[in-house]
Amino acid sequence: MSVGKVYLVGAGPGDPGLFTVKGVECLRQADVVLYDRLIDPRLLQHARPDAEAIYVGKSARNHALSQDEINALLLDKALVGKTVVRLKGGDPFVFGRGGEELEGLADAGVPFEVVPGITSAIAALAYAGIPITHREYTSSFAVVTGHEDPTKPDSSIDWAKLATATGTLVLLMGVERLNLITRQLIEHGRSPDTPIALVRWGTWTQQESIEGTLGDIRQRLEGRDFRPPAVIVVGEVVGLRDRLRWFDKRLLFGKRVLVTRAREQASQLAEQLAGLGAQPIEAPAIEIREPEDFGPLDRAIEDLVSYDWVVFTSVNGVESCFRRLAAAGLDARAFAGVEVAAVGPATARALQERGIVPDYLPERFLTAAVAEGLAERDVAGARVLLPRTDLVGEDLAAALMTRGALVDQVVAYRTAQAPLDPEIRVLLAAGKIDIVTFTSSSTVRNLVQALEGEVSLLQGATVASIGPITSRTAREHGLAVDVEAAEHTVPGLVQAIVNYSTNSMPSGGKDLL
Ligand code: SAH
Repeated sequence: MSVGKVYLVGAGPGDPGLFTVKGVECLRQADVVLYDRLIDPRLLQHARPDAEAIYVGKSARNHALSQDEINALLLDKALVGKTVVRLKGGDPFVFGRGGEELEGLADAGVPFEVVPGITSAIAALAYAGIPITHREYTSSFAVVTGHEDPTKPDSSIDWAKLATATGTLVLLMGVERLNLITRQLIEHGRSPDTPIALVRWGTWTQQESIEGTLGDIRQRLEGRDFRPPAVIVVGEVVGLRDRLRWFDKRLLFGKRVLVTRAREQASQLAEQLAGLGAQPIEAPAIEIREPEDFGPLDRAIEDLVSYDWVVFTSVNGVESCFRRLAAAGLDARAFAGVEVAAVGPATARALQERGIVPDYLPERFLTAAVAEGLAERDVAGARVLLPRTDLVGEDLAAALMTRGALVDQVVAYRTAQAPLDPEIRVLLAAGKIDIVTFTSSSTVRNLVQALEGEVSLLQGATVASIGPITSRTAREHGLAVDVEAAEHTVPGLVQAIVNYSTNSMPSGGKDLL
């Protein structure tokens, strides 16, 4: 058996966007991924579904595996021919023990490559609006571990030299020894007025910073639960944060937003919210499942030419139909001669991606508008196929039928209630969810059901709904709707949340998306 290969890959500081393209390529190839704490689980999604992911949980005090065990595991996997990615936070060689892990491989003759990552030592500062160098303030920096006890005589750090050696001083793993460190720096000649900042969870949506001077930071931290991971930065550049901060100034920064869409559909909403600084918390109230019986859908698909219209009311419907189409050895050409309607832009896009430009898209993205719009095109006597979920009300079908259409409703997918992560209940009970989003009536019904009817858990949060039908359902379940999107799409919902959250601002948050 030939020997495998190990890629030592830096995962970056947290924000999954700060991962390298080369890192993604390595993950795609990996048979095995060994990963640490402080790594966003979204990065692992780049790995193949059949790849083995092993958490080796390195943190300052707790190691799921000891360093020796990690080294041995890397070697074992490589020796049986696996492609292994060793994924480490930040840059693998910045206090990451990356060197030690490679030494064992080098001794055993296992080939390896190193993919650097963006280190938190620079990135956490950047996200706090602190440039690590600046011509006016400093042209040097040092990155030092704060893990060693600075008062120990055998400390490998010469604080007397370090205190004034560089303009900017960055300390990792130093929060717990902050007092000792600041004292050493002052004792060895750094002015007590020197600005200092601590940046916690840098580049993550929950980033938090605190500033002060070497002399007063201790006082400022009093009573605050400022725990690691955090970088400490000392130097005049800290003063630039006031003018240059950007990340924690975004419109929805720090707001925890519950995203109740099915996991398959949540990413667009979650990404848009995160882009504005919010912390999206995915609590899929519904799960998309296959129909119990594909028969009716398959028969409709084989007989597509017999229909005048196919009306798609969701992306799920489009996806399901095209999967069955492909299973029957067919493609978009099966829709030749059939007119296609989409309820809204996301559904239209899903169709376009599959080669079909909808013949009809209503101006208002509501199911009722589809019926009205189609009626204008005279659907009397027309055969209409309606691929839909098992749950939806009969509104659209009924509206089309009263206008004389012959409607075939087939179940293209099922919407099932997803179990609620108990953690989310805890967050809700503690009032730690700022906004709850509902993108359909079924997300309302299912969340309320998952909470066993305890809607009072949602009372502290702002309730945001995608449109009037969803709002009506929310009210029927005893919820007060604070925000309703004017445009009934995901971007419309996000815009409405921004407008609501920034109401007191002069710009009103308009056009900021
Ligand atoms: N190799 C990593 C550092 C590993 S040491 C890198 O290059 O970033 C672990 C320390 O890094 C933590 O104790 C903390 O000081 C710092 N750290 C890592 N990620 C961080 C983050 N997102 N924000 C602030 N500090 C972070």
